Amino acid sequence: MKALINIDYTNDFVADDGALTAGKPAQALEAYIVKLTRDFYDKGDFVVFAIDDHKKDDTYHPESKLFPAHNIHNTKGQALYGSLMDLYERIKDDERVYYYHKRRYSAFAGSDLDIRLREMGIKEIHLVGVCTDICILHTAIDAYNLGYDLVVHEKGVGSFNQKSHDFALDHFKLSLGAKII
Ligand code: ZN
Repeated sequence: MKALINIDYTNDFVADDGALTAGKPAQALEAYIVKLTRDFYDKGDFVVFAIDDHKKDDTYHPESKLFPAHNIHNTKGQALYGSLMDLYERIKDDERVYYYHKRRYSAFAGSDLDIRLREMGIKEIHLVGVCTDICILHTAIDAYNLGYDLVVHEKGVGSFNQKSHDFALDHFKLSLGAKII
């Protein structure tokens, strides 16, 4: 069994009117991410949605000083983008589907993701979503430190910053030993 970690593919990060949108490069990933998610689900693998979660006017959160408000709890901005939401609605009740809220860039920081992967005996994790150079990168570094085999899907990750996107892809491959497919 392996796991697909869907990271932050939400309206605020992807849609034209999203609060912190990566815009077209993120929107271009939709068909690939949806198909890959469906493939993982159909093959009996573990499908994870690790989704950024903020309270309005949270002065303690470090991102409050860095970014405009985004992914506010239970808003349209926090909802999964486009047809990924439709797919999620269809599969969400399965025990092999796990949606949770994260408080930091990394899907591992402060979450129970690592123990869930361990209890399912999963060693190989695949990453898709946004942004390549922020939440995907931080998740990849934690996965590396925890000893997971890492696969990053080039057609399933994107960023508003092409230069940082390219750097992150190199870093996954050259420094974290990830397979880029
Ligand atoms: Zn955030």
